[in-house]
Amino acid sequence: MQVLQDVYIVSDAKETVNSVFITTERGTIVVDTMRGPGDGELLQAHISARTAKPIYLTINSHHHPDHTFGNAAFSSPIISSTTTRKLMAQELPAMWEKLAPSKAPLPLPNLTFDGHMRIHLAEKTVEIREIGGHAPGMCVIYIPEREVLFTSDLVFQGRFPFMGDADLDQWIESLRTLEQLAVKHVLPGHGKPAGPEAITDQREWLENFGGRLKGLVASAAETEGILDLLIHEFDIPDFRHEMIRKMITSLR
Ligand SMILES: [Zn+2]
Repeated sequence: MQVLQDVYIVSDAKETVNSVFITTERGTIVVDTMRGPGDGELLQAHISARTAKPIYLTINSHHHPDHTFGNAAFSSPIISSTTTRKLMAQELPAMWEKLAPSKAPLPLPNLTFDGHMRIHLAEKTVEIREIGGHAPGMCVIYIPEREVLFTSDLVFQGRFPFMGDADLDQWIESLRTLEQLAVKHVLPGHGKPAGPEAITDQREWLENFGGRLKGLVASAAETEGILDLLIHEFDIPDFRHEMIRKMITSLR
């Protein structure tokens, strides 16, 4: 899907996760590669259909496998934060081996940075900002002149968020920071593109959810009772129940 003349968002076949690519006169910047080798190839095909320029750089916004397991489809250098690369090296090889036992090892980022960097490519400036909350070391990608922000998984648009590696207070703080940016187009890691209100909506949701979770844990109710209440109040899908149970336990 084309967001602007030079910014595109692509989902995997089941529309579970998003990648973004940005075209320039000198080449294309790819952000995230989705959840498997086939997804990486699908993304590559979308890019080839739009531009004949080479892929200049691939960015991994954070270490989660649904954003990195398509890496093998891209021969360009791959960049991430230092923390993201470290977590990929620690946590992903065993999962990769299960998913793609006959394949070469998962390509890890070749270039790493800490904090903040800018890519100046032809006519464009693309900023990569390390900003935590959803996962340690995660980054958002901002194109100031287009007022486009790829929030990656700091925003789950219309989806129940994955919080298994999250620091909720930091996540809320990060969204507050992003609310200060000039943004017209929010491209989320999961769900449909939206306007800047998607950042505020996600922050308010996390504040409600986090407040209720902490309040219930402080009330000393049983874990299963808390889980039941949260499931009903926040319409939590079945496949997230175990994640919430762990969040309750870790708060005790
Ligand atoms: Zn994620």
